[in-house]
Amino acid sequence: IRWTEGRGWHDAQLTPYAPLSIDPANMTLHYAQEIFEGLKAYRRPDGSVATFRPQANAERFQVSARRLAMPELPVETFIEACDALVRQDKDWVPEHGGEASLYLRPFMIAAEVGLGVRPANEYLFIVIASPAGPYFADGVKPVSVWLSENYVRAVPGGMGFAKTGGNYAASLLAQAEAAEKGCDQVVWLDALEHRWVEEMGGMNLYFVYGDKIVTPELTGSLLAGITRDSLLTLARDLGYESVEGRISTEQWRRDTENGTLTEVFACGTAAAITPVGRVKSTTGEWLQSGGEPGELTMQLRNKLLAIQTGAEADEHGWMHELG
Ligand code: PMP
Repeated sequence: IRWTEGRGWHDAQLTPYAPLSIDPANMTLHYAQEIFEGLKAYRRPDGSVATFRPQANAERFQVSARRLAMPELPVETFIEACDALVRQDKDWVPEHGGEASLYLRPFMIAAEVGLGVRPANEYLFIVIASPAGPYFADGVKPVSVWLSENYVRAVPGGMGFAKTGGNYAASLLAQAEAAEKGCDQVVWLDALEHRWVEEMGGMNLYFVYGDKIVTPELTGSLLAGITRDSLLTLARDLGYESVEGRISTEQWRRDTENGTLTEVFACGTAAAITPVGRVKSTTGEWLQSGGEPGELTMQLRNKLLAIQTGAEADEHGWMHELG
């Protein structure tokens, strides 16, 4: 779908997957006017297909668009575009039973040709899809994380809350540093004090204190994950208290060592939930839950996946059924 200044959104098309032809002076290539989303379509036991909370993705897409001075795509148009592609690619949605899905990647780029930093007068909204296998091929394994003190992902007043390619470009070197330290993932800290835990490379974090779970509050420099939001609700359904708060790296270590912080996990569309095992920083390292997946972590993971794959009732109206 194309947006042109003065005309709005027009020319929706469903076409076979093919390369885009881009002018070398397309603004996106120079000034990074790009935003995106990620969501999944799952096969249900009766063979029908449903997407998980597309409305929430559509709303977050509008938030990202506003931050990058891009036009907002109406929520209904976003959902209709995803629906049209899923219907077209229905045979690519994996069978019910595993954790496999059809991953959807809606995105928007500037389509104007011209060198000059300003909002473009033309944009393209596109959705592509690809089957996604289970995140953990042989059982859920805790990830090891590196607390990044040398690099920050987002600053106050910046774009951290928007889902834009630039944030991920900023993360590559930190991810490489994490790999050098022998860790799977980087954990971002706040930009001012390098002390407050924000999020992981592509997932939000949760801290389990007995029957209470805490997730870092939305300060503006982390992404408001849809999985994060869903878990605030699901944990309450299971009788746990779930709150947003602040967790420092000292507290993370101290509370693990004194046994009050019993589990840590990360959550996002890609993996649903992944336990955190080893934690490493410039000042030392420690092991979470003895390096094993925590009990509540797995309970929440199973519950979320059961709702997404239609094995359990969708009490919150999260699934968008496509027939
Ligand atoms: N944080 C970042 C930086 C991400 O890229 C993602 C993945 N979209 C998340 C958190 C988790 O968000 P969601 O649950 O909506 O996938």
